[in-house]
This record gives sequence, structure tokens and C-alpha cells, in this order.
Amino acid sequence: MAFAPLSIMPTHKTTPPTSLAEYKRKRDFTKTAEPAGRAATARRPPRGLRFVVQKHAASRLHFDFRLELDGVMKSWAVPKGPSYDPSARRLAMEVEDHPIEYNAFEGTIPKGQYGGGTVMLWDRGTYEPEQRGEEDDEDILRAGYDRGDLKFILHGKRLKGSWVLVRMRRDSERPQWLLIKHRDAFADPTYDVVAEANTSVATRRTMEQIASGRSRVWQSDRDESAEKPVRNASLAKRATRALKGRKPAPVPAKKTASKRRAAATRR
Ligand code: MN
Repeated sequence: MAFAPLSIMPTHKTTPPTSLAEYKRKRDFTKTAEPAGRAATARRPPRGLRFVVQKHAASRLHFDFRLELDGVMKSWAVPKGPSYDPSARRLAMEVEDHPIEYNAFEGTIPKGQYGGGTVMLWDRGTYEPEQRGEEDDEDILRAGYDRGDLKFILHGKRLKGSWVLVRMRRDSERPQWLLIKHRDAFADPTYDVVAEANTSVATRRTMEQIASGRSRVWQSDRDESAEKPVRNASLAKRATRALKGRKPAPVPAKKTASKRRAAATRR
């Protein structure tokens, strides 16, 4: 048979498959503690769509940025991590969909296994489309994802406000995107969130403590839902400015933030 015309030759799909087949194929679940993953579920989340950011010291340090959509976590590897500077465009390489259970994973992937290295739960929360409409949130987000222009608002402990993922290239094996902070009350070119936030949002452990397998720094008999949000002076400052500024701040400033920060520094 002759060559097919270019236009109908197989090309990479515009969007990767939403199944977890690739995720499962890459991992040996007898060797890694990562979740094996159930099938993607159509069940609607009870309280908003989830997002998680995991700091991952693999062969190269990066941040895995994951957004819940259609029962899986859409995932991007962001080498430099997110930035609150609206002029910073952070490369975000799309990777395979991850199971929702991955949102709870923190620990060490054994050497030699896919993604071997230490994983920290660096931020988590819920997210929503920037523009709300008649449509279902997931329909709006899916349309943005398909179009390569995904605008959303993060409600995390460390990441807040409006952000966009813009797809640059779709011809490579993995689409490359840019993660950019929108200009809003939370934008702050002077705040280096990646440098300032160095501990797990779930267990307050450092990467070293996670790697050594030590238990939580704070031995706590409270359940995790009772954990207070991690705050810092910069976040409080931004929230205060937001209150004075154009928009009502989603997060009120807490007077105890600097105290808590001082306590965190001492540990
Ligand atoms: Mn990773």
C-alpha cells in the first residue's frame, strides 16, 4: 500500500487518553507504594474538584501539578514549580493521568522504579473554572483543556487565586504547557513560594525527613482534617492587601500568622 496522505497519517491525539493504562504500565505495584489506581470514576466529587501539587525529587527535582477532571488527575511536571509572579511562565510538561488516590501519596518511590525518589505533598485543595456559567464546571474545564487554554482558580493552602495553563506545542510526544499566574490580589512578584514553602502540607515533614522514612514531625492525635492551614507572613500580607484592594480576599489575614511562622522556623 502506498503512503497515506499526511493528513490522515496517525498523529498523536490532541488529548491523552483519560484511562490509567499508561500510569499502570509504567509502575510495578509490588515494588512501589504508589496507589495502583482504580478505574476512572464518573462519580461527582462531593465538595469541588481537587488539585494537588507534589514536590518530587526524582532524577531531577520538579513539582507535579495535578487537576481533577473526569475521574482522574490531569498531570503536569513543572520543573521550577509554580510562581506568584505573573510575568513568570513556568514550563509544565503534561504527563500521564494519575489516579485520584495519588492525591494522598507521600513517601519514597524505590530507586530503579519509575519516578524513583521522594514525593512530598506540597499543596492541595480544590479548584474551579475562572468563568462560571450555565454549564457544569467540569464541562467548562474540559473545554479549556481541549483548547489548550485552561483558566482556573486554586483554593489551596499555598496556591491561591487565578492561574492559567496554556498549551504551547502539541506535536511533541508530551504536550508542553506554560503555567502562569494571572494578575489578581494574590499575584506577588516578590514572593518565592517554592523557596519559602519547604515542608509537607500534610505532615509538615521536610524532603529529608520523608526520605528517611521518619514519622510526622508533629505527633498529633488529631485527625488530619483538624490540621490548621499552613500560613506564612507573605500569604497573610497578600491577603491583607487583598482586603484593602479591589477584590474581597478569599482568605482573611490571620494575626497569628507571623507567630506561627516564627514557631515553624524554630523547628
Ligand atoms: Mn513526578
